[in-house]
Amino acid sequence: MNDVVARFAPSPTGFLHIGGIRTALINYIVVQQSKKDNGKSKLLLRIEDTDITRSKDEYKKSILDGLEWMGIEWDEKPHTQSESIDRHKEIAYKLLEKGHAYKCVCTKEELETKRLENQKLRKNIKRLCTKCKNDSATQLLEKDFCIRINIPNFGKLSVLDKIQGEVVVENKEIDNFILLRKDGTPTYMLSVVVDDHDMGVNMIIRGDDHLNNIFRQLHIYKSLQWDFPTYAHHPLIHGDDGLKLSKRHGAVDINEFKKRGYLPQSIINNLILLSWSPKKDDENIEIEEIINTFDLEKMSKSSSIFDYNKLNHFNNFYLQKEENYKYFEKYINENSILKKFFDLDQILMKKLFSTYKKNINFYSELENIAKIYYDEEFKTILNNELDENFNIILKDFMKHLDFIDVWSKDNLKNCINKFLELKKIKFAIFGKPIRLVLTNLKEGPPINDILFILGKKNTFLRLNNYINSDK
Ligand code: GLU
Repeated sequence: MNDVVARFAPSPTGFLHIGGIRTALINYIVVQQSKKDNGKSKLLLRIEDTDITRSKDEYKKSILDGLEWMGIEWDEKPHTQSESIDRHKEIAYKLLEKGHAYKCVCTKEELETKRLENQKLRKNIKRLCTKCKNDSATQLLEKDFCIRINIPNFGKLSVLDKIQGEVVVENKEIDNFILLRKDGTPTYMLSVVVDDHDMGVNMIIRGDDHLNNIFRQLHIYKSLQWDFPTYAHHPLIHGDDGLKLSKRHGAVDINEFKKRGYLPQSIINNLILLSWSPKKDDENIEIEEIINTFDLEKMSKSSSIFDYNKLNHFNNFYLQKEENYKYFEKYINENSILKKFFDLDQILMKKLFSTYKKNINFYSELENIAKIYYDEEFKTILNNELDENFNIILKDFMKHLDFIDVWSKDNLKNCINKFLELKKIKFAIFGKPIRLVLTNLKEGPPINDILFILGKKNTFLRLNNYINSDK
């Protein structure tokens, strides 16, 4: 396999979207695959910050942090598009010199009038500026013009996209788009091509919202006799309503997923299955195995739905794995609520995690659970289920509990089972109310687990407080 030079080229005009992570991930996987055969392959990162009004440093930081957290490593130091603006201008003028571009003085109003005229005549003509190219006075101007690409009206270009297959576009379908604006700033269409060429990028993997740009961009490559890159345009992620995934559907910013306590493994697992199948019995797959088995050309062309429930399912699976406990400890340090509790009593936090990990989808769900167990002033909220009959049973049970010296889950379980057997009581009559007394929660882990987490002293404190409360 030849070396692959791919790139991830986000614009820092917003926080890093989960869709952007998916593009970066696919690029990363393909480069890692190629690195196995070819040490020269690399993944470059280019921050496309030429939209000065919308680009912000905080967004750039969120992109770098998000990629790093996901374990998506790039080679070399990040490139910054705005640093190459002079080079982009140079190329615009080169295209002008060679006749592949021309000066244009059309105003917005003139172009709009032309568009409306075409619409009226039911003409689907993409080229709105028609007069400038052949107007010698315009072409002799020294200032106050923009530079447009000059694409012939005949012929066509075809591309074999690794995901979309063959895509053909007639030249007359492509507009004579702007390369350099009147104020001298280059457009995305020009900058992206110049940077990709100068950085040696030979494989462009990005969302299919850029599919229409291939042909515009290829005309620049062609005019300059630069080698064409290989393209792979992957479908975008949608929400369950079929619309492009956005905040309306749930978290979309990668740092939000991190804050909630998702693991990179589950995000990677969920993202990679969106349009590719590893064809194995279970769906759990981690990065190493993905790198070994992924096939870019087998990715589906149709958009896929990002399923938050499935992500939760994967996250629950990965957070329960023994070797991932370290991620929980890391998470605690970044979550002020859990950190405060952890510093008060580390053992309690560990007990909470090992018991509740089955029941939670992401770490921050533990905040509310911890608030209950760490509450030194805990008071049972009285309700109908806690009736006199239960109170009698509870007092009796406390006597049995008091005999336990070694407060282990097993001893507690035995004690509960023996007590129920001895008193011929059904678990529901006893279990539900005692859970309420100790946690104010209707649902939760088995009673012996709750007793174990609380420890003997706290268990008795809570039970006695309840018994002695004004009922
Ligand atoms: N900066 C562009 C974006 O964020 C990507 C450009 C490209 O991949 O060609 O959509």
